[in-house]
Amino acid sequence: MAQSLFLMKGLMEAVRDTSYDVRVRLLDVQQIGPELALKWDDGREDFIPLERLRKRCPCAGCNGEMDMLGNVYKVPARPLGLHAFEIRSIRAVGGYALQPTWGDMHSTGLYSFDYLRRVAEATDESM
Ligand SMILES: [Zn+2]
Repeated sequence: MAQSLFLMKGLMEAVRDTSYDVRVRLLDVQQIGPELALKWDDGREDFIPLERLRKRCPCAGCNGEMDMLGNVYKVPARPLGLHAFEIRSIRAVGGYALQPTWGDMHSTGLYSFDYLRRVAEATDESM
C-alpha cells in the first residue's frame, strides 16, 4: 500500500511539472564566473556550475525521449565542444523556466524552475 501511494505521489509531481504550477519565483539570475547564481523569492540562493547545468540539459536531444511505456531513447552523446559550458544569453520563458543559449549555440533545453532547484541540490555524482 505504501508503495502505491509513493507511485501516485510521483505521478502527481510529474503532472505538476508539466502544468507549470510554479510556487516559487525567480528574482534574479546572474552568471558569476563558472556558475549560474539564482535568487528565489523564498530566500534561497543557488549556485550551479555551468558544466553541471549543461550536462543536465533537459532537452530531448541531450536527455533522450521517453515513450508511453517509459522506455528512453537516447541519442548517442556528442562530445561537448570548447564553448559548450559558456552561456551566451538566457531567456525567461513564461515565468516558469529559463532557456539558455550555450556557447556552442545549443538552446533547445527548457530548464523549469523546479528542475533548476533539483539540479542545484544534486551533487555531480548523483544525477
Ligand atoms: Zn540539450
